[in-house]
Amino acid sequence: MSSATLVWFRHDLRLADHPALYRAAGRGGPVVPVFIWAPEEEGDWPPGGAHRWWLHHSLTKLGERLRSKGSGLVLRTGPSLATLRDLIASTGADAVYWNARLDPAPRQRDAEIADALRADGIEVKTFASRILHDPDAVRTTTDGPYHVYTPFRAKFEETVEVGDPLDVPRMGERTTPDDWPESADLDSFGLLPEAQDGVDWAEAMADFWTPGERAAHALLHRFLDDELIDYAEDRNRPDEDGTSHFSPYLHHGELSPRQVWHRVNNWVRNGSMREAADVFLGEIIWREFSYHILHHYPTLPTEPLKGKFEKFDWQVDDEALLRWQRGQTGYPIVDAGMRQLWALGWMHNRVRMIVGSFLTKDLMIPWQEGERWFWDTLVDADLANNAMNWQWVAGSGPDAQPFFRVFNPVSQGEKHDPDGAYVRAWIPELKDVPTTYIHAPWTAPDEMLEAAGVVLGTTYPEPIVDHSDARNRALAAYAEIK
Ligand SMILES: Cc1cc2nc3c(=O)[nH]c(=O)nc-3n(C[C@H](O)[C@H](O)[C@H](O)COP(=O)(O)OP(=O)(O)OC[C@H]3O[C@@H](n4cnc5c(N)ncnc54)[C@H](O)[C@@H]3O)c2cc1C
Repeated sequence: MSSATLVWFRHDLRLADHPALYRAAGRGGPVVPVFIWAPEEEGDWPPGGAHRWWLHHSLTKLGERLRSKGSGLVLRTGPSLATLRDLIASTGADAVYWNARLDPAPRQRDAEIADALRADGIEVKTFASRILHDPDAVRTTTDGPYHVYTPFRAKFEETVEVGDPLDVPRMGERTTPDDWPESADLDSFGLLPEAQDGVDWAEAMADFWTPGERAAHALLHRFLDDELIDYAEDRNRPDEDGTSHFSPYLHHGELSPRQVWHRVNNWVRNGSMREAADVFLGEIIWREFSYHILHHYPTLPTEPLKGKFEKFDWQVDDEALLRWQRGQTGYPIVDAGMRQLWALGWMHNRVRMIVGSFLTKDLMIPWQEGERWFWDTLVDADLANNAMNWQWVAGSGPDAQPFFRVFNPVSQGEKHDPDGAYVRAWIPELKDVPTTYIHAPWTAPDEMLEAAGVVLGTTYPEPIVDHSDARNRALAAYAEIK
């Protein structure tokens, strides 16, 4: 019988379509699944608070699922190389398998660990499962990386063949080691927030989300059954909540992009379903594009890809930043989004664009501040997607919204939340404001505000800036670097 194989779980907290686990189980000997908590190895981007909350619950679910298959999950803390060596020694493993991480710091770390283990005589195999394309293989006609989404998508659709997802491997007695190595207690990782003044900020998240692979598949079912058909129409409506909510599951790897790709394509039965599927898959390809850009430009999370933005007259304004973070700007659609983010660890994509535009253009605060806040507060905080989208919003990215296109937070609210239902859900102090004024309460007649119980500046803030002045200021600053 073969020696044991360690399977190193990271951003792939699932059993189905898990190439490393699948191949390890196929090898014949015992399989030892292991997760190592080593935030210090993530470079400048150790996981934020909301990611950690999700991770705690996802690891709980993964452990349960592995045990239900007769296996188990060994939890350890880093450093990763020393921990893997220790586990190799205690299990007699002669191989370590993992699915590749693509973020710059862990990618570099993994390469070093692979070299070190191979030098120890260990078989190391790594597998691609994070994204659907190979960023070095999808190239322009001049043999470079893509910088623009539309031709990237065309090339992706023309050349990338998405293989079938793998089943959950057969485990059980055959793959169970005689002795399990010691495992740390999950609580010792300290992933859950401590309540402050009796308040647990993760409470609403716990009500809204169910982390784990099973929940991911239940959501996928529901989305295909009920929502995908209307996706193209509803996806820009935060009040309709018509998007999939797959992002944290894809980020933590409870769902693989290959599973999503195939399930969505297999769902199609007619032309209008094809149309809906294509709009949705276009978003999955945006995810591919983010990873493509990060792969070729590892400084994406910190430096503007359009160098001229280095010279932009960004403002340092801690008070304005704090008001934006807290959802106290006085612009209801912005504040609703920021409060949704704080409560659920998630925000609707359209509103992410609106709050991003507001921060970088109306307040002229650097996009990196927004990126950092999102990093800490999103359950789907993902280095490639977050950085690429912040650069898109700020105008400094490869295929970005032009800087001069400044979202008007009032008309955006009126267009995408026409009845004000989203604003009322997240800003209860405005719930009685009539729809005509819900996105600009400062324009309402005094008696109407009084009837709605709103005292501007007291129960809800006055606008932090005048949008039209702010827009002119931003455009003037942009003219300086253009
Ligand atoms: C400023 C800003 C920051 C963002 N930060 C993140 C982040 O940290 N992590 C993250 O996963 N997404 C991020 N996004 C992209 C997008 O907002 C989320 O992926 C989406 O809102 C998640 O909700 P959903 O799963 O219901 O999306 P759906 O509309 O159902 O889309 C399905 C999937 O497609 C992918 N996707 C959708 N839109 C985008 C996009 N614009 N770019 C890349 N992939 C996309 C996601 O994986 C998503 O789960 C950000 C967008 C903006 C404007």
